[in-house]
Amino acid sequence: MRVVVSGAAGFIGSHLCDRLLADGQEVIGLDNLSTGRAENLRHLQGRPEFRFVRHDIREPFQADGRIDVVYNLACPASPRDYLAAPLETLAACSEGTRNMLELAVHNRARFLQASTSEAYGDALVQPQPETYWGNVNPVGPRSVYDEGKRYAEALTMAYHRERGTDTRIARLFNVYGPRMKRGDGRVLPAFLDQALRAVPLTVFGDGSQTRSFCYVSDIVEGIVRLAASDETTPVNLGGPDEITVLELAKVVQTIAGVDCGITHLELPQDDPSRRQPDIAKARRLLNWEPEVDLRQGVRLMLASYLG
Ligand code: UDP
Repeated sequence: MRVVVSGAAGFIGSHLCDRLLADGQEVIGLDNLSTGRAENLRHLQGRPEFRFVRHDIREPFQADGRIDVVYNLACPASPRDYLAAPLETLAACSEGTRNMLELAVHNRARFLQASTSEAYGDALVQPQPETYWGNVNPVGPRSVYDEGKRYAEALTMAYHRERGTDTRIARLFNVYGPRMKRGDGRVLPAFLDQALRAVPLTVFGDGSQTRSFCYVSDIVEGIVRLAASDETTPVNLGGPDEITVLELAKVVQTIAGVDCGITHLELPQDDPSRRQPDIAKARRLLNWEPEVDLRQGVRLMLASYLG
């Protein structure tokens, strides 16, 4: 197997490259290094089965030789990053996804789109099954990511229906783990960084909003199983357990062994109030469910920041 991973220098992308290489595949990793980091791939330097190409998917890409699977993960994913680069985010989701779909068409390759729980917006259904259409503010600041990814899903399905492209869509819920940038702005890197500096943890709003976290190795396993399956409609991949942001702050402080207090900051606009995946479809079709529980995963992430 010879595959392309876009967003290869990103948090999830770099772990996916590791996994595919471990499975004996040849990997071409693309990244424009706008939010991804070369250091996430440094350990792969010199590996003959891995090639890094600094490439922005907003431009077309042609591979030298055949490609079997295209994994499209390239996109700013932290709210801080996509709110700082709205047009780049929309372009990555639109032209970027189209260019990666064209790469798949040209090679008669399978195509997997990394989508997101943000497709459900501020969900009114709890937990969220794939059949829920979502509750997204189409003109709010987060829409560049939410609507961008929804467009990417629509484009993927249109290629599937009109061009017969062999496509997969994974909706990923709050993935965390080593290689998330400490200053990335997302909640677990932020809390762990603050705990390590023994400064108060920044809880946005009253902290009653919920998320369901999934450790990166579990997500990568789900992506690999989805790519190998026949399922062409979207599949949720995420941790089934919901936790409030306030509870999460306490978990981090307990694991880090610090009592540095909490500061409440303003809740960002359109911050979803509850988020929890219904993973019955992934369980049924992929025989997949997460194995790493939150406390174990936070310990591993903390150790990676210390090491
Ligand atoms: N959050 C927080 N403090 C932070 C960063 C995030 O309380 O320093 C909250 C944020 O408001 C949201 C949740 O944590 O309710 C998850 O935020 P994140 O940016 O990690 O991802 P999201 O799920 O919003 O895309």
